Amino acid sequence: MIIVMHPEATSEEVAQIVERLQDLGADIHITTDGGRTVVSGTTESRLAEEAPWTDLPGVERVVPMVRGGRRVGRHFKSEDTVVQTMGVRIGDGSLTVAAGPCAIESREQMLETARLVVTAGAKMIRGDAFKPRTSPYAFQGLGKAGLEILAEVREETGRPVVAEVLDPREVELVGSYADVLRIGTRNMSNQALLREVGRQSKPVMLKRGRASTIEEWIDAAEYIHNEGNPHIVMVERGIRGFDPSARNTLDISAVPLVKLATHLPVMVDPSHAAGRRDLVASLARAAVAAGADGVMIDVHPRPEEAMVDGPQALLPDEFEMLMRDLEAVASALTSPRASNGQP
Ligand code: PEP
Ligand code: MN
Repeated sequence: MIIVMHPEATSEEVAQIVERLQDLGADIHITTDGGRTVVSGTTESRLAEEAPWTDLPGVERVVPMVRGGRRVGRHFKSEDTVVQTMGVRIGDGSLTVAAGPCAIESREQMLETARLVVTAGAKMIRGDAFKPRTSPYAFQGLGKAGLEILAEVREETGRPVVAEVLDPREVELVGSYADVLRIGTRNMSNQALLREVGRQSKPVMLKRGRASTIEEWIDAAEYIHNEGNPHIVMVERGIRGFDPSARNTLDISAVPLVKLATHLPVMVDPSHAAGRRDLVASLARAAVAAGADGVMIDVHPRPEEAMVDGPQALLPDEFEMLMRDLEAVASALTSPRASNGQP
């Protein structure tokens, strides 16, 4: 339950609410939003019935958690969250492009790709050391050796690196190399992993589960936030549809829906949505036009040699062209992207 106090509520009125919640054994969190105090008592959905909260002095409104009241929600904080890492700001109205290979295959491949995406304008570099593969016999990633390559890439380029973490036991390891941890589509509902990345302080990119509703996805973000880490970027990456023409169906409406319902930045991964290179640029342009705070693009210098997801990787010159298009689309928009044009 979230209790939003009037802007003029006194500290005594806030203290009264806090005391009553404490008496009920609630886990209390107090924040300020545009000058007003917001008190939330979680874990107890019955709290809403325990007292006539709206009648208490200083209370403006009450939003029960079970009806969309969440810490990642706009009710809790109306200002947009800006996620920051090494000077890159996601969610401040600028456009962030993360790019790189799906998997780290070798030092040479990773460094070559990182150099070319940064030269083309990418602010962040992707490359995974741990890959979630459908077949247990497929390439699973280089593991720790891959993370060491990633650290070298960050050292050389000065750009933050993002990598997937698959297992709660590896959060510390991946977090000691990567600047941003990514939760993949297969793990969106892995609450143990969500809690673990919520207990560390690096930003987390949370991909949408491939058969998850927007509400389920936002609840997954809430697991991370509840552990104390508010640095969350939501990543739409397509959902399973009935049409096999593309690997997944990119849900463009997810961009404004999540931005309206939460204060979190939203990025789009058109590469994993499409699964094929010839759709990626169109989807990326659409994502930026829809208000995404950024996109994440697979790029490989020689996709035919890629060990994972070669068919969806853009070639270096295709990526350069796309960067120019994305900048043009972003600057053509007149409404502020960060808040989806909402006041
Ligand atoms: C990826 O980004 O490499 C990836 C595995 O994506 P997803 O979890 O969206 O399939
Ligand atoms: Mn991939």
